[in-house]
Amino acid sequence: MTQWQTLDRQYLMNTYLRLPIAIAEARGNTLIDTEGKEYLDLFTGLAVNVLGHSHPAVMEALHRQGEQFLHISNKFLNIPAIRLAERLVKHSISGKVFFSNSGAEATEAAVKLVHKWTKEREDGKRGFVVMKKSFHGRTLGAVRLTRQPGVYQDFPMPEFPVIEVEPNDPDALERVCEEENPAAILAEPILGSGGVEPLVSSYLREMERLCRERSMLLLMDEIQTGMGRTGTLFAYQHDGIEPDLILFAKGVGGGLPLGGIIAGDELADLFRPGDHGTTFAPSPLSAALGNAVLEELLERGQLEEGRRNAEYLWEKLRQLQKRFPSVLREIRGRGMMIGVHTSLTPEQANRLQLDLLDDGVLVDLTQQTVVRLLPPLTLKHAETDRFIGCLEHCLSRILS
Ligand SMILES: *Cc1c(COP(=O)(O)O)cnc(C)c1O
Repeated sequence: MTQWQTLDRQYLMNTYLRLPIAIAEARGNTLIDTEGKEYLDLFTGLAVNVLGHSHPAVMEALHRQGEQFLHISNKFLNIPAIRLAERLVKHSISGKVFFSNSGAEATEAAVKLVHKWTKEREDGKRGFVVMKKSFHGRTLGAVRLTRQPGVYQDFPMPEFPVIEVEPNDPDALERVCEEENPAAILAEPILGSGGVEPLVSSYLREMERLCRERSMLLLMDEIQTGMGRTGTLFAYQHDGIEPDLILFAKGVGGGLPLGGIIAGDELADLFRPGDHGTTFAPSPLSAALGNAVLEELLERGQLEEGRRNAEYLWEKLRQLQKRFPSVLREIRGRGMMIGVHTSLTPEQANRLQLDLLDDGVLVDLTQQTVVRLLPPLTLKHAETDRFIGCLEHCLSRILS
């Protein structure tokens, strides 16, 4: 065990299974550990660093805002936040933004807003429909909406019913809406930690149709799928639907904590002063970085370049799949959000992750045997080639 592992176990609470490396530096798409070993980062801090590390535009914003001020409070106008909110709204739905520090807090804000909406309407609608295996956060409110054994715990909040449905089953969805009269449907367009399971286009459109027909709210959790990860700014934009509310976080702060909701016109003016708030969010520094990220994505062609880089990665993965068809069972996801569903045992999948790490490639595992790739949009073709070479090599070794 290294010195840092020993100290980590002594002083930090045991809430994560950590990989045994300590990062000293990160440049572009490469992490460098304290021993000087380099790793290709296909994990991006769990879908946070969409532009890789130390991107020049992000660093410039960091220095510029850092010299101005770090914190002022929501009692003042916050110019970086205003700019960022304008960008987010102009590239999604007509409405207004509430900023938070994290994804779970975005979920909390959404839950409170839907509560207020239901209370004011008094039409008997209550609670949320969520997908089996969904993940919406770990605070006490958000954890109720999360449907993963090991994350979800049943805290008694009776006035907040949560109804779970099997993803991609439109009949089941229609049935529960009929029977339970929920106020809202909340879904990730691609279930992330639930195993990288996309909701199909026809299902998302059916969801929207039901919401319009029954006057329910459609909430899209784009915390992981957003910020260009799937090739559009938000993933729902592939499917021609219009949600009533969008949750965002992860990539939006360029590596700093930031999240929030975009509430469509029906919800945008429901919160009054005092109804909700937080001291820190939006940090002007996080918001300044957010503006740099969105500028790169939307005004400097990074979204398109990300799509091209993702296409190349998919092409190479599909070629490799032909060599190992029984092991690489299915490749799911979109753009730079990819789940390689394997037929490996959990032990073999763990070994694959550690062997790849040994070879200098960092990938994530989810649902035990799904290799989850969350590469930066800036992934170069040469980096893809290196990854595919390592994956081929490590798979051959495990299967031999
Ligand atoms: C990560 C994630 C969250 C929670 O975000 P935190 O910042 O970790 O609180 C919620 N929903 C989805 C889809 C996520 O991927």
